Amino acid sequence: MSLRELCFQASLNSLRAGRLATFYIIDTALNRNGWRVTDEALERALPTLLGKPLGCVPGYGVNHVAEPQIVGHFITAEKPDGYLLATAEITDPTAWEKLQSGEWGPVSVVIKAHKVRCSLCGADVTSGPDEHILNGEGHQVVEGFTFERVDFVSNPAYPSARLITLKAAVVPYEETPKAPMDYPWDADEAERRIRLWAGGPEKEDIDWSRYRRAFSISPANPGGRSLLTPPGIM
Ligand SMILES: [Zn+2]
Repeated sequence: MSLRELCFQASLNSLRAGRLATFYIIDTALNRNGWRVTDEALERALPTLLGKPLGCVPGYGVNHVAEPQIVGHFITAEKPDGYLLATAEITDPTAWEKLQSGEWGPVSVVIKAHKVRCSLCGADVTSGPDEHILNGEGHQVVEGFTFERVDFVSNPAYPSARLITLKAAVVPYEETPKAPMDYPWDADEAERRIRLWAGGPEKEDIDWSRYRRAFSISPANPGGRSLLTPPGIM
């Protein structure tokens, strides 16, 4: 057996695998804060949501705060029909309970705008509003942006932005080489290797679907110690 083989506690796996929440995030309509994103900008921004956090107020409140408590990360993003539908893997058990009970639902997106124009005159207002935006004749049209985060809120800027579906998915089991049962276990080191294997170590670079493949529960060893190695890492 190779020294680079990895093993995982089944409890760790069950915590990470399969709690999936799908959200309506944003569309191209004028939002309650007086700005909108273009369809092209939304299309280009899709990949920037992957790996980005889903947050709440520390202590499980809902609103935007400067330093939120992170309860999950986005693993898919698609634009089926002029709006963004995205799935996050929920890593916080309390957050999962609040989603299941219906206590949490609405979400609000945090973006970083790179190019903004006035809807009335077309002026570049990226660095600040012009007179049309200040007097309400125009609104801000975001032509370029990246996603920063999504937070649970009570009153979303986009009326439709909320939880759509919850799914407790079972990650397909992959038969992989296994380490000996007495092999020394270093969770941090193993996690670091999986990040590298999935394109990391930086979150922005990680292929999350690949990353997830390393976290699954062995049906041959339910409730026990599961010893898995990501395929192709040896
Ligand atoms: Zn203007």
